[in-house]
Amino acid sequence: MSVAYPFAPMKIADILARGPSYSFEFFPPRTPAAEIALTTALEELEPLGPSYVSVTYGAGGSTREKTHEIVTGILRDTQMTPMAHLTCVGHTRAQLEEIVARYQASGIENILALGGDPPPDLDLPKGELEHAIELVRLVRGIGDFSVGVAAHPEPHPRSASRESDRLHTAEKLAEADFAITQFFFDAEHYFDLVESLRAHGVDKPVIPGIMPATTIGSIKRMSQLQGSEFPRWLADKLEAVADDPDAVFALGIEEATKLARSLIDGGAPGLHFYTLNRSTATRQIYDNLGLGK
Ligand SMILES: Cc1cc2nc3c(=O)[nH]c(=O)nc-3n(C[C@H](O)[C@H](O)[C@H](O)COP(=O)(O)OP(=O)(O)OC[C@H]3O[C@@H](n4cnc5c(N)ncnc54)[C@H](O)[C@@H]3O)c2cc1C
Repeated sequence: MSVAYPFAPMKIADILARGPSYSFEFFPPRTPAAEIALTTALEELEPLGPSYVSVTYGAGGSTREKTHEIVTGILRDTQMTPMAHLTCVGHTRAQLEEIVARYQASGIENILALGGDPPPDLDLPKGELEHAIELVRLVRGIGDFSVGVAAHPEPHPRSASRESDRLHTAEKLAEADFAITQFFFDAEHYFDLVESLRAHGVDKPVIPGIMPATTIGSIKRMSQLQGSEFPRWLADKLEAVADDPDAVFALGIEEATKLARSLIDGGAPGLHFYTLNRSTATRQIYDNLGLGK
């Protein structure tokens, strides 16, 4: 079944072939107030004309309906191209096939295929797919999707070694169309990743993920969880103004702008902003970089 919409969304592989992409990531809200925050962020960020926007998936299926609802809502109600995240953890192959087939029937053409992290508080069944590469193949087997994967500049915390993670990422990316990275704060981590993927013969686009450090505690916690180093130089700068949340915010934007600029200057094929369902930080960095319509 094909679905006709007034706005023609695109496959992300085709968007990337045209030049640098600037994309925004959102997550499914859990409360009515968070629902309003997401709607506001989407409304405030749409005028920037992002290349595409993506919506995360609660590993194990906790946001199964919600992610579908938001992704298809973006397709229906906005002028933005959506991408659905999907994770292997806790799902059977049949469940994943059903989710992907439903996206296909709804006109969604872009999927970010992920391993997922089992939530520690949920006793999930193991799941039939162990690694994201198996999900890339499953999605490819169902339809003509553009498929992205995750990449970890400071290797994934569960990796046997840095080299094994680079190798598995190269194998996965060879079968996908593009990768988006975990966030990081030193550009050299990104360039090292790209260089080692090239050494493995893979030169597909690797889009760096940008997370502005606009608060101290929560970014430190997130960094620990993801295996991203929260560097001493950045912690020192932020802690020097820790008493003033506005100054912390401004510094976080300034440093994220510098990082984004050095990534683009160094040849990165775009930027992916972790918006945390807020628009201010992304809009400010966009402005600083002279992007947008
Ligand atoms: C851009 C981005 C978006 C994300 N969105 C979400 C989201 O929506 N929901 C969510 O729950 N999580 C999300 N995550 C987090 C992600 O699910 C976790 O980091 C997860 O632990 C790893 O996912 P992966 O896709 O890299 O997994 P995989 O590619 O499966 O890799 C996981 C680990 O297994 C290793 N590995 C891979 N293949 C093999 C193999 N064949 N043999 C042995 N080892 C192997 C890798 O080196 C790595 O250490 C996102 C991450 C990124 C970067």
